[in-house]
Amino acid sequence: MLKSFRADLHIHTCLSPCGDLDMSPKRIIREAIKKNLDIIAICDHNSAENVKYVKRAAKNFGITVLPGMEITSREEVHILGIFGTLKDVLNVQKVVYQYLTPGKNNPEYFGDQVVVNEFDEVEGFNERLLVGATDLTVKKITEIIHKYSGLSIASHIDRESFSIIGQLGFIPDNVGLDAVEITSRENIEKLKGFFPKEKNFPVVTSSDAHYINDIGKKYIDFLIEKPSITEIGYAFKNIEGRRIL
Ligand SMILES: [Zn+2]
Ligand SMILES: [Zn+2]
Repeated sequence: MLKSFRADLHIHTCLSPCGDLDMSPKRIIREAIKKNLDIIAICDHNSAENVKYVKRAAKNFGITVLPGMEITSREEVHILGIFGTLKDVLNVQKVVYQYLTPGKNNPEYFGDQVVVNEFDEVEGFNERLLVGATDLTVKKITEIIHKYSGLSIASHIDRESFSIIGQLGFIPDNVGLDAVEITSRENIEKLKGFFPKEKNFPVVTSSDAHYINDIGKKYIDFLIEKPSITEIGYAFKNIEGRRIL
């Protein structure tokens, strides 16, 4: 039976240098419950080291945490990869680390990159330059995401910076995106001129929350059978009644 599930598929944690230090696993879950979300995806910049802790913090709360990552391409385009299992996202993390611009984070300049466990205790600091870009093209990133059974979504395409339209000027036909994310539904019609010819991507809205209060401010409702990445993929393709509401 199909049911409605409310999802916010783009939430950062305190691991992202630009993420507020209050974005700890426990607090994220508490806020997501407050905002009546059924599904959240944790998408830090070029890393997934806090995902397992957010998953643990969600235990027994009836909320589904999907492992994800916001990967920066060589063209400085942000692409969300959202996965079904922790193993998948950690395999992608291995590739991303291999292609990430070498260098060390400067916490004073970019912000701290904190690994925090499900009890809100600091496990350590990620020293990589997570704010940097990878040496992977958008196309290559979507290939890697698909190799690990994930969905690839172009982030905030209606923003100037770090978006596929802002950086490339249009959405190429062959990059293999499963959906696009916009920050405001009002922008959708004017953006369609930048889509490949005769192609209509599923459009999601998410919060891209870097601060606790922003979680769930933007969301998307899915009509699906259960809260899983496979079902969301079906909703993108309108398979057997599944759809975006
Ligand atoms: Zn982004
Ligand atoms: Zn983001």
